[in-house]
Amino acid sequence: MPIHDVESLLARVADPAGDAILDPATGDEVGRAPVRSVDDLDRAVANARLAQPAWAARADEERVRLLNQAADAVEANAAALAELLSREQGKPLDGIGARFEVGGCAAWLRATAGIELPGGPLQAGDDVRAEVRYRPVGVVGAIGPWNWPMLITIWQIAPALRMGNTVVVKPSEYTPLSVLALVEVLNEIFPDDVLTVVPGGGDIGARLTSHPDVGKIMFTGSTATGRAIIRGSADGVKRLTLELGGNDAGIVLPDADPRAIAEGLFWGAFINTGQTCAALKRLYVHADIYDEVCAALVEVAGRMPMGRGLDEGNVLGPLQNRAQYDIVDGLVEAARESGAKILLGGDPDPKAPGYFYPTTLVGDIANDNPLVAEEQFGPALPIIRYHDVEEAVLMANGLDVGLGASVWSADPERAREVAARLEAGTVWINAHGMVNPLVPFGGVKTSGFGLEFGVEGLKGVALPQVLNG
Ligand code: NDP
Repeated sequence: MPIHDVESLLARVADPAGDAILDPATGDEVGRAPVRSVDDLDRAVANARLAQPAWAARADEERVRLLNQAADAVEANAAALAELLSREQGKPLDGIGARFEVGGCAAWLRATAGIELPGGPLQAGDDVRAEVRYRPVGVVGAIGPWNWPMLITIWQIAPALRMGNTVVVKPSEYTPLSVLALVEVLNEIFPDDVLTVVPGGGDIGARLTSHPDVGKIMFTGSTATGRAIIRGSADGVKRLTLELGGNDAGIVLPDADPRAIAEGLFWGAFINTGQTCAALKRLYVHADIYDEVCAALVEVAGRMPMGRGLDEGNVLGPLQNRAQYDIVDGLVEAARESGAKILLGGDPDPKAPGYFYPTTLVGDIANDNPLVAEEQFGPALPIIRYHDVEEAVLMANGLDVGLGASVWSADPERAREVAARLEAGTVWINAHGMVNPLVPFGGVKTSGFGLEFGVEGLKGVALPQVLNG
């Protein structure tokens, strides 16, 4: 199996005439990404459609074997993939960063290969017989974001391939090289045209969404683009899995131990420097322990090094792009002007290179402040004081999003009672944002619909057929 370094991977996927991709930590050019046309996309879909019947006709054991080999290939190339990911996305090699993401890709491929396929008898009596089978959809379109570009691509493609679909991937314009390099490594294992990447602009995503030969779209990104995908796919009544924006609430109950939960709260909110769909984005803390929780968070946050991802030891990096930096900066400034208290951070250095925004904690903030009500998607956490749990539940449920949520308490039973009342696809107890390849994950409200991971994720990229009689 070929083992690449970053430069050889880049040489295989980059295009000297393409768009310059800049390192968000330094502004240095990482490489030039090809920009494909809608005609290229049409050709990729046509080839994927031609390749699909033979891929589906292989025995499931064969697809399982290839998914496991793909995991081996990712592991063999992990150093180069992690370095490229760190340079393009900005995330540190260390911590819950680039090495973690690449390791997650291999782990997810293996776990997806190991799931028992869905389907089987529903009723098997003398008079009534019914069974359900899950057949491939055909060609699946996978449209991904820039925050976890490799891992989310794997989340989309691994179940689709396992179920006998072929896949055409449209990566984010911000992080195309990471996805191209990952697929380059995977395609040393998979047959031609089973898995194709078409990098380019929003026109590629829009065409993939409305393409008559694409049966299903897996999408992770903003709610606005999710709405465009619903509209674009309506004529074909296409199957959709939409994992859209969130604004996850965490509720700390009055019996929680501030010091014991501080590090979990911190990583729940600041994983990937806050650029995670299911990160903790607004924290509700009971008045009895509000000051202690704030102090414990300031202590933990203050000792987490932020810097260039390739420098070992950093665990937080820059924002991936200028637009996201401006969103975070604008929200924190508006919070400061409203009278909220900056407990840590704020005040980025405008002359410093890179899109580094300091780790920021904002206290004494009203629930209707934009930093609470809007998705910041960056390293700035608002901490809201509440006086009774009813009020906290109302505030947590008060937005039109519902990806994740969490409840923090010394009494897990009490936490579960509160969790059951939260309007979110997943509610974690004394943790936030932990995903597992065998546990279904998806949003409610405008955070999307459809489940990823586990057997539900396999069903999501298949067409059920009931045989009755
Ligand atoms: P977008 O939703 O704009 O982009 C996600 C993907 O959709 C990209 O590959 C994009 O391509 C593609 N796309 C754009 N337009 C269309 C279209 N009409 N049809 C189909 N696909 C399309 O997210 P951004 O990256 O711009 O981030 C914006 C905000 O979204 C962030 O501020 C954050 O709040 C949220 N977000 C949420 C994520 C999550 O994990 N839930 C991840 C990333 C962002 P292209 O790059 O070419 O525009």
